[in-house]
Amino acid sequence: MKKGLLIVLSGPSGVGKGTIYSKLLEKLPNLTVSVSVTTRHPRAGEIDGVHYYFVTEEKFAEMKDNDELLESAETVGNCYGTPKAPVIEKLECGRDVLLEIDVKGAKQIKKAYPDCVTVFVLPPSAEELKRRLIGRGTETEEQVSRRLALADEEISQSTLFDYKVVNGDIDVAVRDVMNIIKKVKGE
Ligand code: 5GP
Repeated sequence: MKKGLLIVLSGPSGVGKGTIYSKLLEKLPNLTVSVSVTTRHPRAGEIDGVHYYFVTEEKFAEMKDNDELLESAETVGNCYGTPKAPVIEKLECGRDVLLEIDVKGAKQIKKAYPDCVTVFVLPPSAEELKRRLIGRGTETEEQVSRRLALADEEISQSTLFDYKVVNGDIDVAVRDVMNIIKKVKGE
């Protein structure tokens, strides 16, 4: 059986990766999600096992030590990682898997799985990114500043990605990512 495609979607916090991700899931029936583990506290409305598996730092370290994570990174003060077994299982079954992870994680995945496709989502401008991040209202002022500083650093590394997509209009960005997936799969 043909293996599925591993797709990595990265980009600065607030750029709209989550929305692109949900719309892709609606449109591509063969696409599945990977639920990450994190030591971050849940935001209002976030459900354990759906948005993330919320774990303690001890549990995260244990998973890392036991080689249960495909990649892991510390970003904006918290640890994040992709559980390995479910991703490998889905790819083996021919399902495509989308990882929505940070740049450090994306680099680890590209190194370990060169056949994956990496996509970096850019904001139309720095001002728009700031507006979206503040408008989201899920972070404190300090966290917003931290995420904006990290955004500059991440954007400077976007050249490492196979493809770049600008999220100015969400429907255009989703169509662009879908076209990349189709092209890589030779459809
Ligand atoms: P948030 O706290 O806003 O949910 O996520 C913060 C950052 O962590 C985002 O850039 C997101 O893409 C990244 N992230 C989420 N899950 C993972 C993961 O499993 N691994 C890595 N490396 N980054 C992740």
